[in-house]
Amino acid sequence: MAFSVHVNMSRCTGCGNCVVACPVNALELYTIDPVTKEKIYHVLNGKSINLDVRTELCAGCGVCVGACPYKVISLSGRGETGALVPS
Ligand code: SF4
Ligand code: SF4
Repeated sequence: MAFSVHVNMSRCTGCGNCVVACPVNALELYTIDPVTKEKIYHVLNGKSINLDVRTELCAGCGVCVGACPYKVISLSGRGETGALVPS
């Protein structure tokens, strides 16, 4: 893959902005209560927040990076050039 999305889950609030913004629905946000040991990336208010990137769908457009109010998403690879960002 020419690019990948990275999320700093220690700073993610689970607001869901990135999920709504993604044009191809490549992001899925799960809030699991009670907290389990399975796929925990971040615990907030006793619940685990789990943000999955479906890499097979991700187009590397970078929209999610701009949509995150806390600037916790970064994109490496082709998307950094902005070449695929819709105008
Ligand atoms: S880079 Fe674009 S396609 Fe990939 S997860 Fe972010 S918004 Fe969705
Ligand atoms: S927009 Fe940012 S803070 Fe909100 S769910 Fe996505 S990664 Fe987390």
